[in-house]
Amino acid sequence: GLHGKVALVTGSTSGIGRGIAEGLASRGCNIILNGFGAPNEIKDLEADIIKKYDTKVHHFQGDLSRSNDVQRLIDDAFKIYPGGVDILINNAGLQYVSPVESFPAEKWNLLLSIMLTAPFLLTQRCIPTMKSKGWGRIINISSAHGLVASPYKAAYVSAKHGIMGLTKVVALEMAGSGITCNTVCPGYVETPLFINQAKDKAVEKGISVDDAKKDIVKVHPSGEPVKVEEISETVCFLCSSSANQITGTNITMDGGWTAN
Ligand code: NAD
Repeated sequence: GLHGKVALVTGSTSGIGRGIAEGLASRGCNIILNGFGAPNEIKDLEADIIKKYDTKVHHFQGDLSRSNDVQRLIDDAFKIYPGGVDILINNAGLQYVSPVESFPAEKWNLLLSIMLTAPFLLTQRCIPTMKSKGWGRIINISSAHGLVASPYKAAYVSAKHGIMGLTKVVALEMAGSGITCNTVCPGYVETPLFINQAKDKAVEKGISVDDAKKDIVKVHPSGEPVKVEEISETVCFLCSSSANQITGTNITMDGGWTAN
């Protein structure tokens, strides 16, 4: 089981990362949270996970667009857990939308640094202790946009395609070591962000929130969004011994979007 394993989940103060942190805590993992948020809300989140699952929970600051912060995050983690991180979930991410010919270079750099360079640096730092234990899990949260493109999302689509490649290289280099590396590619996920988007659309179009959700997820042949808990369960499965031979690959959860 996963009891007592140390899991670092980036971008876990909100949305998908938060759900993954809870899922891993429910399996008995000690959790390192990371991400932005109001200090009192982060304290509440820590306390909530500790109360529900009786595991250790720490939140460490770190702006993943800054390589110094990335290194400090790992240094902080190793201070508390000298045995290192057993499960690394590279989840932090953000979107920026603009036509390619006017896409600001600093936004390109920002998205690539958070969604591709930080996962690379964290992977580098986590591997040595994973190797010495003969066990590790690295799971990169990509997106359906790691497989297909949409207009105006040059940086996001490039970063998400890039992480698919990094995942395969790491999987090959780690093969036979007990360390696996995989991606999960969600379509539209029912995060607070998505629900707020649906509420705005409902008001704007004078339709119900449910109909607004349907309108947003019509790109999914299933017509339904992905739930955070579903992603969390998939991540927990990839961390289980049933997934020992699943490496260098991807689980797509997009209601059929990329099959279309
Ligand atoms: P969210 O906005 O709810 O959460 C993002 C998290 O990342 C937050 O905790 C935030 O503080 C953190 N973060 C952002 N910038 C950071 C930085 N510079 N340093 C450290 N932390 C930072 O987003 P979400 O919807 O939960 O998305 C999580 C991941 O899932 C992202 O990689 C996203 O691309 C991917 N994803 C989301 C969807 C979706 O529909 N929501 C679909 C496919 C993939």
